[in-house]
Amino acid sequence: MAKILQLDPHVADLIAAGEVVERPASVIKELMENAIDAGAGMITVEIKGGGMTYMRVSDNGCGIAPEDAQTAFLRHATSKLRDEKGLEAISTLGFRGEALAAIAAVSKIELLTRETGTDEGTSLSVEGGTVKAKTIAGCPEGTTMIVRDLFFNTPARLKFVKTDKAEGAGVSAQVICCALSHPEVSVRYIRDGKEECHTPGDGRMDSCIYSLFGREFAGGLLNAATSDGDVSASGFVSTPACARGNRSYQFFFVNGRYVKSKTLQAALEQAYKNALFTGRFPSCVLYITLSPCDVDVNVHPTKTEVKFLHEHQVFDSVYYAALSALENERGGAEIKLSEGTKELLHTAAPANVSDISAYEQPNRGVIHSQPNPGDKLPRAYGSPGYSNRAPSAPETYVYKPVHDNTKVSYKAQDENAAADDGYSEQNLLESSDSPAYRRFVGEALGTYILAEKGGSLWLIDKHAAHERINFDRLKNKMQVTMSQTLIHPAIVDLGREDTALLTENGPLLDQFGFSVEAFGETALAVREIPSEIELDDVDALLGEIAGILRHGGSPDDGLILDALMHSIACKSAIKAGKRSEPLELEALIDRVLSGEIRYCPHGRPVAIELTKTMLDRQFKRT
Ligand code: ADP
Ligand code: MG
Repeated sequence: MAKILQLDPHVADLIAAGEVVERPASVIKELMENAIDAGAGMITVEIKGGGMTYMRVSDNGCGIAPEDAQTAFLRHATSKLRDEKGLEAISTLGFRGEALAAIAAVSKIELLTRETGTDEGTSLSVEGGTVKAKTIAGCPEGTTMIVRDLFFNTPARLKFVKTDKAEGAGVSAQVICCALSHPEVSVRYIRDGKEECHTPGDGRMDSCIYSLFGREFAGGLLNAATSDGDVSASGFVSTPACARGNRSYQFFFVNGRYVKSKTLQAALEQAYKNALFTGRFPSCVLYITLSPCDVDVNVHPTKTEVKFLHEHQVFDSVYYAALSALENERGGAEIKLSEGTKELLHTAAPANVSDISAYEQPNRGVIHSQPNPGDKLPRAYGSPGYSNRAPSAPETYVYKPVHDNTKVSYKAQDENAAADDGYSEQNLLESSDSPAYRRFVGEALGTYILAEKGGSLWLIDKHAAHERINFDRLKNKMQVTMSQTLIHPAIVDLGREDTALLTENGPLLDQFGFSVEAFGETALAVREIPSEIELDDVDALLGEIAGILRHGGSPDDGLILDALMHSIACKSAIKAGKRSEPLELEALIDRVLSGEIRYCPHGRPVAIELTKTMLDRQFKRT
């Protein structure tokens, strides 16, 4: 007897359905995409119990003609693709004609639809792929699909379904992606009777983002845009200060389709290289537009993976969009809301985003508080709304390490300014030409430098600024300028594993100014340390380096080197909480106020500007 038999069409349908319909979120994705393809201006999504028992998607799109209603549920039945040629330039979200067949195969569906401009609608119910009833029905123009009891006939699938909370969060994430993908469509989302979000549908990306994620997220975004004619990228990227502990807020859309792409993710993150500490990720909402012929969306049944014909072009477009946003963030990039949007936002609750990221990635990052758009708060240097500054003047100060056993201080090279130790309280940084006028006012709380420049008072985080300078120097030279030899070797007990690891990586440590050798099995004898490091910090620094090497893979890896440099830069920076030499602080002011340094290696802003107008207003002088 023949062993190979063609599968029963019903079994084949169930297998195919498995590829498209994995969980409630996949159903919502397909139904919302169909609504968008149908030209809807409004979509309502409603779910109950995480979506397993009840999901509804209603739209005011073109509707389905009575004679097409049944066909729509057949496999490979579509109105969006006619022939092979059409496959080369897909401009709709759907085209495979699979979704309705797949959903119908594993659930109980009710369709209610009326074509635009016709008098009669159609009601159709399908259960496990079989049509149960079809009648004429009175209903509004557009389409409503109600999906009940997902996987009722596929117990194997049911086993993989998570809790209602988790599946509901998956649906929420999907709704957000679809809503973001088309800001011209108003999306309303109701979960267990509660409205979770409602986008205005006014075509503005900013108001769409605001209504979904709220003020805090929107306030930390910068405008980003590039175009080289063939490919354009526009939207928003986060300020380094608003980086997160995961990538769940990176949204990329290619020709209106939400996609997951390593290329786009890498391009974005490359732009933030050195502005963010390892383990912190930028957020974005970026819309990439290119000819449909240059992107293949037919890579996977769920269509979230894409292939680009000219990958480097797309990479560049995202990279430069993000990079120029970061460079120009002072150019009024903050999100300004239209009056209509503001009004709407008062009535619409932002989506429960914590839910979404909990679903995407459990280790959710902290949202840093940012000045709100429109609020009269001090602007962080490098945050939206900061006015553009002239590029840095030729350096007046150069760092020269001066050894004082283990302590290093900096001297200014400008002879007039730094008559050796003749530090005078005032005007060390003053110069006669007024645009470069700046004055060291003092140090506050052992942490912040106060300086005056251009009609503003500046608060500079001295540790953050110094850390950045150290990092850049290490990065540029790839080595420290000097080591200091300790009179007595320091014995550092790091345990067996870390001792072995650091001894093995002797040449790497050498590069950073350390000279170490094993001292027994569990300790190191340290003979030389980088000149900027204090003896007290050596233990902790070597421990950190061992930690980085332990978890980070090969020491040739750029990321590991960056992490090592971050650690050394941090340890060699002047410390918050301790008073510093005024000369050290002045040198920092110069570098910061020239615009050279904006963020510490962890992405935090290094300075805050308080304009005279702001202060006058606070004191009611104006
Ligand atoms: P595809 O979207 O790939 O064409 P689907 O199985 O999702 O395949 O849908 C089949 C067809 O049903 C679509 O091509 C479209 O003509 C019709 N259809 C589905 N949903 C809607 C809707 N919400 N409004 C109008 N037509 C729809
Ligand atoms: Mg479809």
